[in-house]
Amino acid sequence: MSGYTLMHEHTTINLSGVKKDMDCRLDCYEETAKEYRRLHELGVDTIVDVTCDGMGRDPEYVSRMEKETGIHIVQSTGFYKEPFLPQRVYESTADELAAWMIGEITEGIPGGPKAGMIGEIGTSKNVMTDAERKVFDAAIMAAEETNAPIYTHTTLGTCGLEQALYLRRSSLDLGRVVIGHMDLSGDLDYIRRVLATGVCIGFDTVGKKAYLPDETRVEFLQELEAEGMLGQVVLSLDLTRKSHLTYKGGIGYAYLIETFLPMLREAGISEKSIRKMLVDNPKRILCGA
Ligand SMILES: [Zn+2]
Repeated sequence: MSGYTLMHEHTTINLSGVKKDMDCRLDCYEETAKEYRRLHELGVDTIVDVTCDGMGRDPEYVSRMEKETGIHIVQSTGFYKEPFLPQRVYESTADELAAWMIGEITEGIPGGPKAGMIGEIGTSKNVMTDAERKVFDAAIMAAEETNAPIYTHTTLGTCGLEQALYLRRSSLDLGRVVIGHMDLSGDLDYIRRVLATGVCIGFDTVGKKAYLPDETRVEFLQELEAEGMLGQVVLSLDLTRKSHLTYKGGIGYAYLIETFLPMLREAGISEKSIRKMLVDNPKRILCGA
């Protein structure tokens, strides 16, 4: 593993039931394969697929994609957030959910490989609900037991600090915990407070300009580079819709490498910093020190 890693993607995902929008069913296998092959040519050798139970996870689909495109895809265990949590979360204790995650990490996901990530486990907008807290408790137990990393979902960056402080009460190495979607908070001071807890954060919605202009992402990263904080930042796009792919007119996965990296370089961000965010930090998070 020495190429780039995208730390937060979904090879296939289906949130169309809850969202009542068929665009949220990302199942265009051939188009995704085409884009993954292109990514491979651009130097991406690993994708962390954070699609978990309740999000339309399909380990066989992802394993086939991995074989056919040559990109290593890390698969995940866990549960997302309300209202996407499967019935199992409501009917089980945190211990039982932890045991299920541990099984997927140590023995394998049915139809797929051993899970290499716990995620994306999430909170709702401005609140961590009881069911979401139960999933966090289970994830902490599973990570303590297996040493697996954790990747979270925040809704528009909210509760990022609450998540970090919650996870800090455990014995986990926070350097291997990623608080997701922190770019979407749009608030650099808040981001600094989250980083101060010792966790890593995702600037993992690169290209989602309707939520936050990429110029703002670049400015934030410039500031964080000056403050020596990029050892705690990872990058990704979080494409989840058919319309995000190029065949439907979207930005496509290559956008991060072909458009966003040139913006970072233009802004004076060093190659060393880019390597940190796309190579060194992912490696440390996935594999340990
Ligand atoms: Zn997410």
